[in-house]
Amino acid sequence: MGRSRSRRAVDRRRREEQSRDGFDRMLSGFRRTETRRGREYSVQPVSGQRAVKEYTCPGCSGTVAVGAAHVVVWREDGVMGPEADLAARRHWHTHCWSIA
Ligand SMILES: [Zn+2]
Repeated sequence: MGRSRSRRAVDRRRREEQSRDGFDRMLSGFRRTETRRGREYSVQPVSGQRAVKEYTCPGCSGTVAVGAAHVVVWREDGVMGPEADLAARRHWHTHCWSIA
């Protein structure tokens, strides 16, 4: 087994672990990293098709409706580590995040 092959197997196992809570399945598009006020955030688009729960947008305190395409945002540099950052993720209206 070559080196790249075993690495792919590790990546696949990691993805399966992440998808256990269903989080991976609701995501669409590519995650990107953005900086706001000197802090790094992960920004992950969620398609309307996959938006099956209501959320409160931290930008406008309004409701991110079921079926509304939006973004999930979480910090990249939190002192509690990546798992805590991901657990503290918030759902934003795409527009609200773009002007945050
Ligand atoms: Zn909003």
